[in-house]
Amino acid sequence: MQTVTNQFQEAAGKASFIRKMFEKGLELKAKYGEDAVCDFSLGNPDVPPPEAARAVLHQIADDAVKPLGLGYCPNAGIPSVREAMARHLSAQQRTDVSAGDLVMTVGAASALVCFFRATIDEGDEVIVPSPYFVEYGNYCGHFGGVLKPVPTHEDFTLDIPAIASSITPKTRAILINSPNNPTGTIYTRAELEELASLVERTNAARGEGERPLFILSDEPYRAFAYDGAEVPPVLPMTKFAVVLGSFSKTLSMAGERIGYIVVNPELTKLDGGALMSTLILVNRTLGYVNAPVIGQRLAAAICNETVDLAIYKRRRDLMAKVLKDAGIEFIMPRGAFYFFPKVPGGDDAKFVDALLAERILAVPGSGFGRKGHIRLSCSVDETIIARSAEGFKRATEACK
Ligand code: PLP
Repeated sequence: MQTVTNQFQEAAGKASFIRKMFEKGLELKAKYGEDAVCDFSLGNPDVPPPEAARAVLHQIADDAVKPLGLGYCPNAGIPSVREAMARHLSAQQRTDVSAGDLVMTVGAASALVCFFRATIDEGDEVIVPSPYFVEYGNYCGHFGGVLKPVPTHEDFTLDIPAIASSITPKTRAILINSPNNPTGTIYTRAELEELASLVERTNAARGEGERPLFILSDEPYRAFAYDGAEVPPVLPMTKFAVVLGSFSKTLSMAGERIGYIVVNPELTKLDGGALMSTLILVNRTLGYVNAPVIGQRLAAAICNETVDLAIYKRRRDLMAKVLKDAGIEFIMPRGAFYFFPKVPGGDDAKFVDALLAERILAVPGSGFGRKGHIRLSCSVDETIIARSAEGFKRATEACK
């Protein structure tokens, strides 16, 4: 007897590769012990949150036992938190953003879901440069949206002519993610300006009566930029820009589920403010009601800090050495904490199995829309990266 919708009956057979590797990892760890497995499959940030979190949480605990200390808050977020976020995002995006231009959300994930709920009708399309974060398809698929992956160039830079020729009257958004999961790419100012100009031209051609094309920038890894790389702000580049992000990675508070969505101030005013009021409405009616209040207050108090990024830089450099020594080809990531190397022999499923035999967990590139690669997440200690070195060499030899 089928208990779920046809959509989810079909999806069950295609469970995420990341999840599968996660479960495989649990199995191996139970069998051989935690330390015997090098798990590069998940992006769960393990670096401790900034020390300043402690005092803030004590203060929140004191306030929590007052009436409504842990009560519902306005659907868009605690007013003082929105004010603090407006200041933070104004500096980050180099745009004068006010509290009314943003909504506090349940991580970047729910910011995406709310945006799609507000803007997608059945059959509408969302373009995403591929490889891409696989959950995007699920997020827009909930509302009948269709994700249209457009391959990047070999070096993971944007192929803007290919994006331009994929736009149809049903395209509602171009969804970008920089610094990128899974490749670690940071798009340059020139690439982003070209994309913004494409969005402007498309909307000018669409005319007043039609629905616009948005540029939707997913930025949970914004703080993770190495070698002096700039992560250019997208919000000021076009009035059709929408930016979202979270504190899951930058403050290592992924389990506390705090994110935000902010729209260009001119967009807030467009169409009688319909986009903002709909985002606030769907934040409520999708069942989130409001972002968790403890996390909102914590994030607002320490949003200008980050975890110790030097730890991630050292991990990146060490992983680069491990891969190089094994003869594995890769593009050095300039941001985030992932590698997306080419697999020896070209067959990603085969290479992932060879790594599994070495008790190394990686995710096949097919799971991100590009075969012949694997994704490695460096959200593990340097000792684990170092320990994986011989296993990578043996797996490479086995697959050449
Ligand atoms: N976007 C990307 C590219 C991600 O990698 C993730 C999580 O790994 C998310 C969004 C969702 O993150 P969160 O909802 O924890 O902010």
